[in-house]
Amino acid sequence: MEDCLFCKIVANEIPTKKIYEDDKVLAFGDINPQAPVHILIIPKKHIAGLDDVREEDCALLGHIQLVASKLAEDNKLFDGYRLVNNCGIDGGQTVIHLHYHLLGGRTFGWPPG
Ligand code: AMP
Ligand code: ZN
Repeated sequence: MEDCLFCKIVANEIPTKKIYEDDKVLAFGDINPQAPVHILIIPKKHIAGLDDVREEDCALLGHIQLVASKLAEDNKLFDGYRLVNNCGIDGGQTVIHLHYHLLGGRTFGWPPG
């Protein structure tokens, strides 16, 4: 997908702090961290957002959640963490390539802002 920031990161055209990679997903440090641990987990395949996920993507979404749980363990987030998907304008999505924020290392409030 041309002009997609995260597709460019997948293609190694923009440098990032890579944390995990396999054939389906990439995880890297958020450039503007909101917590001591702030990792973005994205599918390598371009999917604009959660509303664009199709039935055939369900295994991929499940895989992303397993990767999130593994990365939480790797980062010793034994007291918990938050996995966030922002969808659309009201959800606060700014990059139009599906991504999940893995946030940890501090206590989060509820409801979110
Ligand atoms: P969202 O607001 O949910 O779309 O999240 C997009 C996230 O991407 C934000 O937390 C940004 O800080 C992050 N971000 C934007 N550009 C980069 C980049 N080049 N490398 C790493 N993270 C980025
Ligand atoms: Zn993309």
